[in-house]
Amino acid sequence: MINQNFLKLQSSYLFSDIAKKVKAFKAEHPEKNVISLGIGDVTQPLPQACIEAMHKAVDEMASSATFRGYGPEQGYDFLREAIVKNDYKPRGVQLDLDEVFISDGAKSDCGNIGDILDTRCSVGVTDPVYPVYVDSNVMSGRAGVFADGKWSNITFLPVSADNHFVPALPQEHIDIIYLCYPNNPTGTVLTRQQLSAWVEYALREKSLIMYDAAYEAYIQHDDIPHTIYEIPGAKQCAIELRSYSKTAGFTGVRCGYTVVPKDLKVPNPNGEGEVLLNALWNRRQCTKFNGTSYITQRAAEAIYTPEGKAQVRQTVGYYMNNANFMRQELIKLGYEVFGGTDAPYIWLKTPEGITSWAFFDKLLHELGLVTTPGVGFGPSGEGYVRLTAFGKKEDCEEAMKRFATL
Ligand code: PLP
Repeated sequence: MINQNFLKLQSSYLFSDIAKKVKAFKAEHPEKNVISLGIGDVTQPLPQACIEAMHKAVDEMASSATFRGYGPEQGYDFLREAIVKNDYKPRGVQLDLDEVFISDGAKSDCGNIGDILDTRCSVGVTDPVYPVYVDSNVMSGRAGVFADGKWSNITFLPVSADNHFVPALPQEHIDIIYLCYPNNPTGTVLTRQQLSAWVEYALREKSLIMYDAAYEAYIQHDDIPHTIYEIPGAKQCAIELRSYSKTAGFTGVRCGYTVVPKDLKVPNPNGEGEVLLNALWNRRQCTKFNGTSYITQRAAEAIYTPEGKAQVRQTVGYYMNNANFMRQELIKLGYEVFGGTDAPYIWLKTPEGITSWAFFDKLLHELGLVTTPGVGFGPSGEGYVRLTAFGKKEDCEEAMKRFATL
């Protein structure tokens, strides 16, 4: 017998449909230089500090005196210390080392965290949404029944220009709420006040917030919280996911971390005391995960050195210059654009009456530009396309020249 929940998964043809259309277009027009603003992957190399740290770690592996085998499942203390000291302390957040779990990236933890939660929990996500939140809950049997384009146990919270991309607090009780800020795909952020409203809701409703801060490094404005734990009470209701993928080009290296505060407690169902989510996650990781490689963790540690910080700033700055430039150009051309100020994504409103896919096709066929149709991330993404700033500066410039000819 198989886990039949997998059969309930709705196939997403988004990226394969895009790839097919792009392939067909290139075959018809081999002379055209097609520019991709669609990819969610970085293009700049790793910071030099990380490269040097990795070389050094490889050399350590070459000698029996410094060789390392299995590491701690939770991650090495040198990296956990660097995280607590650099990512949290300056923001007024005190964390113990054992509240930080090093991972091989945010996607795995985001999908796996459900192991420690009851499959009867109800789920809330924004629409449009990073699809992993939904599909991982379908796999574990938490999503319920799929009918009329909706899951019976998942509440979709629409975000669009109409509500300024701020999801309304649900009228009903939801057990697990996924929030992603800066947001993929819309590139929008929540202010401290807006995020506080969610923390208050979660504390009142005894809900758990899964806070995905994979794009934290792109925040430019001082009033935008970098971590949910800047909000009082968040340690009692939120788990935070972080990733070095977009921060430091680790999409292929694989490293991130998850914070599970020890203040996250639930009454023990057997009536005796309380259960710490931190202890459950620790147990889960020790059983199913054998740690991120030593070499990778040394590379991640190097992000926090003065050189590493400067190099990360430079690369993030490069992508954000792309984002700012494209935003300005598109606004000049009369488009309505969102995001792109604290995130590497621009969410572009399609011209009146043109669907996401129709505008995608137009941009591909008339300009040779690849974008991502917003509707692929959820029904409320209809009428938008996503542009990423992860490409080369020259390509972004050329893309905007082409937009001007439309
Ligand atoms: N969370 C969001 C919102 C993302 O967009 C991504 C990757 O695109 C991830 C998590 C996964 O990141 P990682 O590479 O750390 O697995």
